[in-house]
Amino acid sequence: MTSVLIGNARLLPVDETMSVVEPGWIHIEGDTIQALGAGEPPHVEGAEIIDANGDVVMPGMVNPHAHLAMTLFRGLGEDVDDRLFRYVLPMERKFVSPEMVRVGTLLGALESIEAGVTTIADMYYYETEVGRALDRAGLRGVVGQTLATFDPPDHKTIDEGFALVEELVAEFSGHERIIPSIAPHAPYSTDVDVMARVARWAQDHPRVPVQLHLAEMDSEMEWCRKTHGLRPVAVVEKAGLLRPGLIAAHCLHIDPFEIERMARAGVGVAHNARSNAKAGRGIAPVEAMRAAGIPVGIATDGPMSGNTLDLFSQFGPVSMFQKLLGHSRKPMPAREVIRMATLEGARVLGLDGRIGSLEAGKQADLIRIDLSAPRMQPVYDIYASLVFSAMPADVRDVMVGGRWIMRERSVESLERRKILRDAGQIAAAFKAEMARIDAAG
Ligand SMILES: [Zn+2]
Repeated sequence: MTSVLIGNARLLPVDETMSVVEPGWIHIEGDTIQALGAGEPPHVEGAEIIDANGDVVMPGMVNPHAHLAMTLFRGLGEDVDDRLFRYVLPMERKFVSPEMVRVGTLLGALESIEAGVTTIADMYYYETEVGRALDRAGLRGVVGQTLATFDPPDHKTIDEGFALVEELVAEFSGHERIIPSIAPHAPYSTDVDVMARVARWAQDHPRVPVQLHLAEMDSEMEWCRKTHGLRPVAVVEKAGLLRPGLIAAHCLHIDPFEIERMARAGVGVAHNARSNAKAGRGIAPVEAMRAAGIPVGIATDGPMSGNTLDLFSQFGPVSMFQKLLGHSRKPMPAREVIRMATLEGARVLGLDGRIGSLEAGKQADLIRIDLSAPRMQPVYDIYASLVFSAMPADVRDVMVGGRWIMRERSVESLERRKILRDAGQIAAAFKAEMARIDAAG
């Protein structure tokens, strides 16, 4: 069993008071955090000793909503108003395959690791491939097979969709890092019948988390009102899906009554600040949700909507949008942003008992962040430095379940050059297809 002792660190355990332990040490045995403390590290026979040289050591970050394979669509048709119908949906139908999902997910996994993200909740198609890719990357994942009625690339009927879910569950149940999940796309793209079927299925599979997009768009509000005379949260509740462990992405259009209902039901929210802002959709009432007791994690959404898969580029918008709403500097202090990016994101995924903070007995998912870049100096409040100054390039080492998957900025679990080459090849086919679509008018 590997034994690692990291000393001389600026340790951020993400505890109740968001304490900073400086200098601090942490001892890892196998996949588990054995102990941590302040001052000089104890002697541990046979341990690999690492001097962190004052660097930050904190929990690995948790991204509770992404579509990793969509890295391959990043920046495509960026300023074209109808890009979704002109390019994306036709191209998804034509190109999404197990191979495309594998390559796109590996590219997303590489980017996530280099940015210090150690757990990702994903929802896309051919999700078994996503699980395999994240496993290969050494990451932790909640992998959600999408179900939708808009003729998605991997299932013609909902029965076929459920068969894919069953395959996913069969392959990954009991896996130490990959958790299978079921992902009805959204109220308007599944409707009550499918969501009710998912709710019944989830009742029989209590360990399988449910993910969906909720209360995201004006058109969704309109659809729910016209079809059911209800708002989206009520449609989900009618289907029996407003239940403990539901991972709801977005939640922009929710009122105080709905916040209460969601809090009581035990729903967690994945907040996608950048993706929401880029589409001009609005600002989620994060402060109100958290005040009501709803866990809210910081998510990236797909790289087509939010461009990057790192949480650092979300931190500014997450904090600033709440300050704008509150007309004050006070809302969403930096330390709360880091809590959301770690422990609270883990709670959204139902994993806070295992990951999200540095605590004896938890899984050793941790990252080391270098503070030597000029933009990181001086440090008065380490949380402000991380939220407003840090970038993915400052992440130096990444450990998941006691295994180093990146050291000195070099990802050890994946072949970087091959992934970039494979992604480039698929992007070339995408470009040719875009040219064909444009030539057709
Ligand atoms: Zn999404």
